[in-house]
Amino acid sequence: MKTVTTISELRAHIAAARVQGQAVGFVPTMGALHAGHLALIDAVRQRTDCVVASVFVNPLQFGPRDDFHAYPRDVPADTTLARARGVDLLFTPSVSAMYPVQPMIVVAPAPASPDVPALDARWEGATRPGHFGGVLTVVAKLFNIVTPDVVAFGRKDLQQATLVRALVRDLDWPIELVIVPTVRDADGLALSSRNAYLSAAERTAALALPRALGAMQRAWMDDGITDADTLIAAGRQVLDGATSVVVDYLAVADPADLTPLARVTPGAVALIAARVGRTRLIDNVEFSPGERLR
Ligand code: AMP
Repeated sequence: MKTVTTISELRAHIAAARVQGQAVGFVPTMGALHAGHLALIDAVRQRTDCVVASVFVNPLQFGPRDDFHAYPRDVPADTTLARARGVDLLFTPSVSAMYPVQPMIVVAPAPASPDVPALDARWEGATRPGHFGGVLTVVAKLFNIVTPDVVAFGRKDLQQATLVRALVRDLDWPIELVIVPTVRDADGLALSSRNAYLSAAERTAALALPRALGAMQRAWMDDGITDADTLIAAGRQVLDGATSVVVDYLAVADPADLTPLARVTPGAVALIAARVGRTRLIDNVEFSPGERLR
């Protein structure tokens, strides 16, 4: 594995891989790698010859009150994990390498119609204005630098994956997007770099998120409830019992565009965001007979 820090060096290595006829796979991350990230690396490694991963904490996607400075950073540990997982090129640029000047162009989602707000106005975007503009801009830059054939994103960040799917489609990138199922700890908590912020008591309290989603799934699957408000109430009941968990949103949405649904049909998703102490966590689950949280 080679670690590179400049765009020109990365482009040179990728050009060399192309000369050898290699297909290029790409996994963008913000580092503090865990088994969720490694599952994305596996997904592109199975489909391509040259696996590129990036570790870049992108300031453009953090608001002034977000955790940009506190975000966990451990490039030496990430390097060891990436090498062991078969990454060929690890890109770890500095902020000034990625943004030599403050960008004048930010890639932003458009409203679906005059009455349907843009996807970045809902859920995560409502709480974090400008977040998805920052995400899509860095993703667009990285796609232009890496020119991947295949990219992998995690279902854990479903709204992000949905927007990246739209980005690839709407801007005509010839890229195959693989969305990888959420990797969880044995007790059900979705892996996240931000879990490192949780105290032991908060880590236990955070289990209310997957449990609430699991209760909603069971109410749909076992009791045949399809009314979204009733399902949300079942999830809220679990969350109400958890101390130090403050729910930001709990919703049932259409998987295509994450608009809220009044009634669940197979494939619909339940989305949650909550603060556990000072840590904001997100999770989601699909209403599908094949998927069941505890
Ligand atoms: P991040 O480093 O948090 O920006 O995440 C980088 C990529 O890893 C994104 O595509 C995330 O959706 C994905 N990811 C993060 N956590 C998980 C997880 N628990 N399971 C699967 N993918 C994940």
